[in-house]
Amino acid sequence: MTGQVVVVGSANVDLVVDVPRHPGGGETILGGDLRRSPGGKGANSAVAAARAGGADTTFAAALGADDSAALLLESLDRAGVRTDLVSRVDAPTGTALITVSPDGENAIVVAPGANLRLELTAGHVDRIAHADVVLAQLEIPLDMVRAAAAARRPGAVMVLNAAPSQDLPDDIWAALDLLIVNEYEAADLAHAQAAPEELAAALLERVPAVVITLGAEGSLVAERDREPVRVPGVEVKAVDTTGAGDTFCGVLAAGLARGLALPEAARLAGVAAALAVTRPGAQDAVPALAEVEEAS
Ligand code: AMP
Repeated sequence: MTGQVVVVGSANVDLVVDVPRHPGGGETILGGDLRRSPGGKGANSAVAAARAGGADTTFAAALGADDSAALLLESLDRAGVRTDLVSRVDAPTGTALITVSPDGENAIVVAPGANLRLELTAGHVDRIAHADVVLAQLEIPLDMVRAAAAARRPGAVMVLNAAPSQDLPDDIWAALDLLIVNEYEAADLAHAQAAPEELAAALLERVPAVVITLGAEGSLVAERDREPVRVPGVEVKAVDTTGAGDTFCGVLAAGLARGLALPEAARLAGVAAALAVTRPGAQDAVPALAEVEEAS
């Protein structure tokens, strides 16, 4: 079973500079050469679902009519993502300004541009209605997350990667089947500073299942009425963690679409994300399914 995933989300061109350390406020720092690569949480996850997760993946997004859009479409096509629901609007393609420090940590500012103009058409609604898993993030208008959740068929899984972090209205919480967040986002949404298990328990009051990613430590899978499961991290040398969380989300969505149980989908997602952090870039770092299977 391949499984169908629809990713409703952002596409950005990443402008990346290696820096000796991240600058503080008012500070200027000299970095290395500028790299320009395809990114955006939605596009990264769509590439991961198709290439590393092996799912039949459609990406719903808005791009501008510029060079950046061409770069993104080429990357999506190369990964085998369906792009017929990617629209072109009269705004610049989203752009992310990224600095990467020697330990692989990144700091990011996003200019959303076209991403804020995304609108779901009858074509989007029809494709979403055929999906096994619908995955969204928060770099697009919240109304699009709402519309995507409303369009899914009964039994399909609505996944929200609540990044970048923001408080969610009650109707969005009620529409979710699975929330994926990192530790910081989990603390924000739970309005608490606590261990991952406690944060997950608090979030389970609002959503049936939660995965908290824990960087090199792997992830925590928590479902209502089950014991939480810690999925250990995969030890690798981190080169660039840009897009690791997005890769995790895309591969997890693909695993669910292929019928895997949540802990197993999270385990595969962790392997794919760990491979991705060993390479520079976001989409360019996403491993192929065969590599993920070999490393599993
Ligand atoms: P994060 O958003 O930092 O929590 O990372 C998302 C996922 O990427 C984690 O759950 C891990 O599976 C993987 N990951 C991130 N950083 C590392 C790392 N340094 N080593 C291994 N895996 C990582």
